[in-house]
Amino acid sequence: MYWEKDIETMDRDKLEAHQLARLKETLGNASKSPYYAKVFKDQGLDIQQINALEDVERLPLTTKDDLRQQWPYGFLACSKDEIVRMHSSSGTTGRAIVVFHTANDVDQWTNLVARSMYMTGMRKSDVFQNMMTYGLFTGGLGFHYGAEKLGALVIPASAGNSKRQIQLMMDFDTTYIHIIPSYALHLSAVFEEMKVDPRKDTKLKGAFVGAEPHSEKMRKIIEDFYGFKAYNSYGLSEMCGPGVAFECPHQTGMHVWEDNFLMEVIDPVSLKRVPDGEEGELVMTTLLRDGMPILRYRTRDLTRIIPGSCECGRTHRRIERIKGRSDDMIIIKGVNIFPVQIEKRLMDIPGVGTNYLIILEREGLNDTMLVKVEVQKDFFAGDLKQLENLRHRIVEELRSDILITPKVDLVGPDSLEKSEGKAVRVIDNRKD
Ligand code: ADP
Ligand code: ZN
Repeated sequence: MYWEKDIETMDRDKLEAHQLARLKETLGNASKSPYYAKVFKDQGLDIQQINALEDVERLPLTTKDDLRQQWPYGFLACSKDEIVRMHSSSGTTGRAIVVFHTANDVDQWTNLVARSMYMTGMRKSDVFQNMMTYGLFTGGLGFHYGAEKLGALVIPASAGNSKRQIQLMMDFDTTYIHIIPSYALHLSAVFEEMKVDPRKDTKLKGAFVGAEPHSEKMRKIIEDFYGFKAYNSYGLSEMCGPGVAFECPHQTGMHVWEDNFLMEVIDPVSLKRVPDGEEGELVMTTLLRDGMPILRYRTRDLTRIIPGSCECGRTHRRIERIKGRSDDMIIIKGVNIFPVQIEKRLMDIPGVGTNYLIILEREGLNDTMLVKVEVQKDFFAGDLKQLENLRHRIVEELRSDILITPKVDLVGPDSLEKSEGKAVRVIDNRKD
């Protein structure tokens, strides 16, 4: 049941003592990097005075912009000779940043991914099809090596080429896949087109879904269609990639691997820590990274720590599914809206399909929101009144939730552009 029982079920006291020892080591190591050496000096920070986990709040926060400004080597805490791998973020919110790993860093990361997969029930007898882009993106190689370490047969299918993906699943009896949730929905249409029923015609048992925010409802739709369990997988290049936080079979939030990462949740405005259970921005410190330690990284991801323990017996705390990045927040007519909020509503309405797009425009002084929604094709075949009723219902449901009245356009299945990587949910055409 456990990949590393001692670590996964370690008493909190012991786990926190381990974290503190690791934090001190990390600080010593970080001070070897040009960036932190300067920050510590400029701020007159004596790292010897960090003697409790709470003291971490005395350290400066690190942002994606800091990483961008230090591009490429400013955060390196070791010589370049020690580096064996480079990865980069996807660049979802601007210029991508690069991250370097020593051999030991790669081993640690690989182990976390193996631990995460094992936790969900995947074993060496399984066949794992990795449907994430290979290359600089961490989702490809990160999962690949983790699954190999676990001992599974790995099919490095990479993203795209949907028909071949389905063929591979059938030819080689794939049992687990790693897939972006928006792509899993898109693929369901290809299954239908090929007249393949994943529940009957494949051996699929589980999926790891992550890399982008998605609602509980979307998970349910995916699970119902494929007939497997979809485990939420959270990670970011700055910490390593996938393997930072992962769901156990109870699927009640994602366990953060606290032996490797120190987590805080802060108020994004006051930058003060919020109590466990309250929503805020996730801040993470690497505890076992040699090549490029990162302290108090502002992920911009909004979540909360779930209080209480998990039935699985793991002591590593859980975070709730990510609501979105603070950068994803749409501000329109003074109202703050996250795309996932709209998704949740849409997916609850019978007849709504698998994709949607939010377009923001400015007409004079007025901001408008257009939501394009794919709906099932029957709506276009029959009585147009039905289509209009559905449109009306969507407008009403969204209005009651987000408190502004969007325009809604209904379009046929597969008409909105889809991405093989992270889905683009919002196009903001408003000029400041
Ligand atoms: P980028 O930050 O440029 O997208 P990454 O590839 O490193 O580059 O992606 C990490 C980010 O992806 C996270 O900070 C988070 O916003 C998002 N993400 C990753 N996994 C999940 C998940 N399970 N749920 C929601 N968002 C996720
Ligand atoms: Zn659990």
